[in-house]
Amino acid sequence: MSTAMTAGAAGRAYARSAALHRRGRVVFPGGITRSTIDTDPHPIYVSRGEGAYVIDEDNNRLLDLNNNFTTLMHGHAFAPVIGAVTDLLRKGTCFANPTHHEIALAELLVSRIPAIEQVRFVNSGTEAVMFAIKAARAFTGRQAIARFAGSYHGSYDWAETGQSGAVQTAGDERRVARAAYHGAPPTTADAVVVLDFNDVDGLEIGLAPRAERLAAILIDPMPSRAGLLAPLPQFIERLNALASRHGILIIADEVLNLRQGYNGSSSRYGLEPDLVTAGKIIGGGFPIGAVGGRSDVMSVFGSDVKAPLVPQGGTFSANPVSMLAGRMAMEAMTPDEFARLERLGDRLRAQLTATAAKHAAPFSIAGAASLFRIHAKRSVPGTYANAIMTTEEATRMRSLSRYFRDEGVLLPCGAAACLSTPMTEMDTDKVSAAFDRFLTACGDQTWERQA
Ligand code: PMP
Repeated sequence: MSTAMTAGAAGRAYARSAALHRRGRVVFPGGITRSTIDTDPHPIYVSRGEGAYVIDEDNNRLLDLNNNFTTLMHGHAFAPVIGAVTDLLRKGTCFANPTHHEIALAELLVSRIPAIEQVRFVNSGTEAVMFAIKAARAFTGRQAIARFAGSYHGSYDWAETGQSGAVQTAGDERRVARAAYHGAPPTTADAVVVLDFNDVDGLEIGLAPRAERLAAILIDPMPSRAGLLAPLPQFIERLNALASRHGILIIADEVLNLRQGYNGSSSRYGLEPDLVTAGKIIGGGFPIGAVGGRSDVMSVFGSDVKAPLVPQGGTFSANPVSMLAGRMAMEAMTPDEFARLERLGDRLRAQLTATAAKHAAPFSIAGAASLFRIHAKRSVPGTYANAIMTTEEATRMRSLSRYFRDEGVLLPCGAAACLSTPMTEMDTDKVSAAFDRFLTACGDQTWERQA
């Protein structure tokens, strides 16, 4: 194992982050307040953000390819959001009454996302997915959902069941959804059918026999945790056809992939959803979630306001701060701006792919638009089964992410990374140069043994 596998190049110091983690360990189980934080050996505590960069508590300046798990389209402290929100704060932060800000953001979403005729706002992607599933159940009168192994959809019980893969029961063709947490009631898994993303024939085998129980198929058009898998056109076509034939609703979970374009990602890939969930970028850096879709389906939330089929409230739902921040961030995302960011993404993916090829190194680059994911594999995986990291691949990814950090680049490990609008070609050059140095430091010989 070369030095690149064990130590960073620049030898940055993280003493204050280490000290903060010691304090955090006293008051938080595991030392942090969300399980998605990298704690090995301690998290990097951020003191502030500036455009494409974060500055940590030890004064390291790091190019942020995480952007709070793809939330921040414009990086940190985007002036139009900060200006508008600062003015708004003086007028109060949340009310029981509605405000005009919620209508303006809803109008923006309805005008851009073809499948959204009406919308409801909540506070997170998890809630958006939860309400989409409830709406599908109420509308169809069916209870179960189908979802794809490995995809992440937040932590509503039925949405998270099956996220860590699926097991095959002996002598039974049926996929058994694996519970996402200890103590989950087994009845939850009974109402979840797990399918394989991009398995065209598997769709019919999985859906047809259970169609009468299925309210919805929950699908992220490019599931990031499952590998940032590019959807095969014939897979999407078959999915649309089967859902329509069996009267199963399609819920497109675009909490992450709305980032792929002005009209979102379903239209980009030909998916025809009945409901769409959104979150992350539509809040401009503040907490948000949204469920939208066909008006007849959405009517479960309120055709009879006093006794809706699906009650949906939420103390902070549609709070004006998230609504206004979201609108400012989204308005700045014009079609031209989406196109510019996509060109930058294409450039970075090409640079990284060429760098891996130059070293004949077992790395490949998945993704589209402003999103990418580096795989420690020779070719880009097309299925979740192929995307699962071996222990050796996980170690290699971890070394890469550590090396990047010491080179001043924050790269999420095992999740989608992304670009933000303040980034330029200089930033993608910086990332590909760091990748080149990493591969050089590892030495080409290493790959011969590991491949
Ligand atoms: N769905 C998808 C596709 C997501 O990527 C996420 C968050 N990463 C969620 C749902 C959950 O969103 P939140 O973290 O806002 O609850």
